Amino acid sequence: MPRLLCVTAHPDDEAGNFGGTLAGLGGQGVQIRLICLTGGEAARNRGPAANAAELIQLRAGELAASCKILGIDRHEIWNLPDSGLTRVDFHQTASRLAQQVREWRPDLLFAMGPEGGLTGHPDHGMAGLLATAAFHWAASERCVPAAQAPVFQCPWLLYGSGRQPLPASPAVQLSPPDLACDIGPWVERKRAAFHCHHTQAPLFPRFDAYLAHGGAREYYHFAAAPPHRERPAGVVTVSPPALFDRLGEAASPR
Ligand SMILES: [Zn+2]
Repeated sequence: MPRLLCVTAHPDDEAGNFGGTLAGLGGQGVQIRLICLTGGEAARNRGPAANAAELIQLRAGELAASCKILGIDRHEIWNLPDSGLTRVDFHQTASRLAQQVREWRPDLLFAMGPEGGLTGHPDHGMAGLLATAAFHWAASERCVPAAQAPVFQCPWLLYGSGRQPLPASPAVQLSPPDLACDIGPWVERKRAAFHCHHTQAPLFPRFDAYLAHGGAREYYHFAAAPPHRERPAGVVTVSPPALFDRLGEAASPR
């Protein structure tokens, strides 16, 4: 059974950035695991939380509900500092992620690009940089000794990307997309998953407007691929349930 590991920064990133694709893959014979690096305690929108600990607790419950809707089999929150990922110990955190990659042996890793995805949030960019290092370090004994888990080369690393940054977000230079997932049939599940994040309710109108205007596609950039790959000319559109077949085809040597 193919395995997909998704690395995000905050509870709600899984729905907002990858939700349609994950919903289209969840329950379709793909095992999905999410590692969310922070508890989201620095969010501007705090719901009824009186302090950071309460917000972390509320958001953990919201994330669990979102994962259920999206068909994510297993998720964990690492509780690194929210709005502080740029200051975490890079070697220690990337090594810890690399160990997870070695132990779980995913076929595909999803992350946001170093620019920080559509919103340009520095935590998103750092989550992407840490996941990228983990992707490569998992395959190299020079980077992380194979004391506990043997080296493993995950075949694919895809960055969530887009055609343009979100309106009212800082302008970012996105990595040009190679792949478009047609999430039309799963848009409502993506919306429902995002709406599980009740503490972030002030974001819902903007999110729903985005989904209504051009939200029927989730775009990806091939950040790393198996050998003998040629980048397709133009953006390839695929239905999420066909994603692994498409990558399998694309992976065959030419
Ligand atoms: Zn986020």
